[in-house]
This record gives sequence, C-alpha cells and structure tokens, in this order.
Amino acid sequence: MNNLKIYNSISNKKETFIPIDKNNIRIYACGPTVYNYAHIGNARMAVVFDTIVKLLRYVFPKVTYVSNITDIDDKIIKRSLEEKKTCEEISETYLRIYNSEMKKLNVDVPDFQPKATEYVHSMIEKIKHLENQGFAYNKDGHILFSVSSFPKYGMLSKRSKEKQIAGSRVSVESYKINPEDFVLWKPSKKNEPGWNSPWGFGRPGWHTECFAMASDILKTPFDIHGGGLDLKFPHHDNEIAQSCCFQNKKDDFSSYARYWMHNGFVTIDEKKMSKSLGNIVLLKDYLEVYNGEVIRFALLSAHYRSPLVWTESLINQSKNILDKFYEVLRKLEDIKIQRYDLILPKELEVCFFDDLNISNAFVYLNKIIRNKENFKTDKNKKNLKKILMTVSNILGIFKHSPKEWFNEKINTSDENMKIIEALIQKRNVARENKNFSLADDLRKQLTNLGVEIQDGPKGVKWKWLN
Ligand SMILES: [Zn+2]
Repeated sequence: MNNLKIYNSISNKKETFIPIDKNNIRIYACGPTVYNYAHIGNARMAVVFDTIVKLLRYVFPKVTYVSNITDIDDKIIKRSLEEKKTCEEISETYLRIYNSEMKKLNVDVPDFQPKATEYVHSMIEKIKHLENQGFAYNKDGHILFSVSSFPKYGMLSKRSKEKQIAGSRVSVESYKINPEDFVLWKPSKKNEPGWNSPWGFGRPGWHTECFAMASDILKTPFDIHGGGLDLKFPHHDNEIAQSCCFQNKKDDFSSYARYWMHNGFVTIDEKKMSKSLGNIVLLKDYLEVYNGEVIRFALLSAHYRSPLVWTESLINQSKNILDKFYEVLRKLEDIKIQRYDLILPKELEVCFFDDLNISNAFVYLNKIIRNKENFKTDKNKKNLKKILMTVSNILGIFKHSPKEWFNEKINTSDENMKIIEALIQKRNVARENKNFSLADDLRKQLTNLGVEIQDGPKGVKWKWLN
C-alpha cells in the first residue's frame, strides 16, 4: 500500500494513485519535435517527467516510461528546406543534441523513445478503423476526425463548445465540415516526406502519433499520460477522442489513460535576459555557463504544475543551495553506504508523495543538515547520508562527488567573472551616455550575481556581497 497522491488533470484534484498493475507502472509523456535546439520549456517537461518517473521507480518495482520524438512535422519540413537538408538529417541531428543535453540534466533516456516515422503503418491502420466506424471522414484527401461523433469531446480541457470552435477558427480550412474537426492524415507534396496510404501519398497528423504509439507500446488503458500544460487542448483532448472511439468505449474516458499530469509554463523575463546574458532561452546557452544539475534544480524549484519564472537569480539561488548540500556531502565523504541502502523518513515521504512537493521536502532537508547532532557520530552521519542519497535518486541531483562539484564551480566562476566584467563595462558606457536607468538596471543585475559596485573618484570598484 502506498500513499502516493498525484493531481489528476481530468478530475482537477489530487487523487491517491492506484496503479492498474502495481508490478509495472506504465507512463507516457509527449516529447519534443526535433527541428531546433531544445528551449527551457522543453527541458522543464523532460526534467519534471523524469523526476515523476524516478519517484515512481522508488515506490514500485517496475516502471515503463515512454516519451516520443516527433520527427515528422511541418516545422521539420520548413527547416529542411531552409537548410537544404533532408528531414531525416534535421531530425537525427537535433535528436542527438537533445539526448546529449538531457544527459547533462541527469534526465535518463526513457525506456522507449519511439519516433513517429517508425509507427506510420500502425497510424494508417488506426485511421482506417476510425474511418470505417464513422468517426472520421475524407475530404479532398484529408482525413478528419469528426468531433460531432464524440459528444464528450473536450472533457479534459473542459472547454465549452464555443471556445473549441473559437480556438480553431483562427484558420478554418475549407476541407473541414466542422471547424473543430482535426486532421488525422493529410496529403504530402512530391518534395515532402510521405507514405502511401488508402488516401494517397501523405503523412499523419500529430494528434494521431501519440495516440498510436502510446496504445501500441503501453497497451490501453495505461496509468499516466503527461505533457506540458499547452498540450491539454487540443492535443490531449484529441488523443482521448481517438482512443475512446477506436476502442468503441465512448463513455469510458479512463479506457485510454487513468491519470493526466501537466507541467506548467516557463516564463522568461525577456528584458532582463536580453541585457545580461544576451536574451538566452535555449538550453544549450545555459549549459555552456552552468552545470546541468544547477539547471535541473532550477527547473524543479517551482512546483511542477505552477508557472516557473526563469531568471538568472533563480539559477544562482539554485547553485547556492546545491553548493550548501555538496558542502554537507563533503563532510560525509568518508561514510560509505551501499546503493540499495536508501531510506526516506516519514517527513520526507509525506512531501514527495504529496504530488511531488519538493519545496516542503527542502524545508525538512535544511533542518536536518543544520542539526549538529546529525554529524556527531558515524551512525548519525550514515543515516544523514542515506537520506541525502535517497533524495539524490528521486530528484536526480547530488550526482557528482563533492570534489568534482567544486572544481566545476571554479570553472563556472571563471565564466561568471567574464559576465561580471562585461556588465560593469556596459554600465560604464551607460553612465558616460547619461543613460542612468540602464546603468541602474545593470547594477541590479550585478547585485543578483552577488556583486556590489562602488563608484569612487578613481573609477568603479567592485566586491562580492557578503
Ligand atoms: Zn503527444
């Protein structure tokens, strides 16, 4: 028996997680479209679901995690034409980069990372079935899902019919009978990637991809379906519609996935970013400056369902917290524990099992690392180390040795020095140009980096804030 509670987007409340098969938890999360470098939003989704999977692995003996790769998409086609490369070259390149960046964030490769192009045959079969059963129609070579054939459409996002239509009215294509109908299959031009199908040369729509791969690999119903909040409508509502109709279970929403989990948006304070590190929102730019574990921890700093405001001070704060814990781990370096020697005190279990409440977990962790008793005897030290290593397993942090960590900190500091010098230089220029509001802004950014500026008769001096 476990007390794991997760927030189910379908009921809009926290529910006790009851697995379909406690010996194998099955979870699917919508992965990236690989046509460009990953941005911070992609990274948040990957880190959040990797952490949820790690927690499930702590509780249950086996977890099967599937996260797909969209390697057929209009954005990939556009990019391939711009770069004069094949779609395959584009998607292969960015998939390789994505996986290597995820590794730096301590994100494990999912058990299955299916590519859409490998499942087109199955998608054709499923679309054929939906068409034969009267849930889809053919118009000008486009196969569309008929939303009116599924009266409970939109039950996940709980959008009113009017809002659904308004959402799709932006571009109501001529081939749609109803504006909210969505594409299952569309024709490809000769120079575009495509497959032969009963409806001619074409390619599947994105919503069919996830429904087909999740059903084929995990079998329905499976336990958890996840993704970014922006996918709730229409993507996830469309997946549910296809699956319920495909299985002829129009009234049983849970015949596809039992629990739906969505991670919140990342908000970028563009103004701030642009003036300091150069308006960076791509993960790769942060990984050049910061250790991936710092980025991971920063991405976990807000509750996974809440919006995350992405700022440099958040990253620096995350680094400081990790530094503090690595200092503790340095004190515990001589204490040897076994890999399976893990413990989760009740106080921590309550936090993690409460829909992954990491900030409450850190209130407890801060308390135990401040308690001198925990460092007095080897037994107490061992106990503390076991707890920290359990947290390491669940959150994917503390993966370095303290020695490695602080060496890296020196490198990062070198990077920081360059940034500080550049900011001071910019501020000097702003002051010369009497642009005092910019100068003030730059001073604030330096304060965020822990730097205090002193303007004197002999020029500008700076020192670290205490
Ligand atoms: Zn998806």
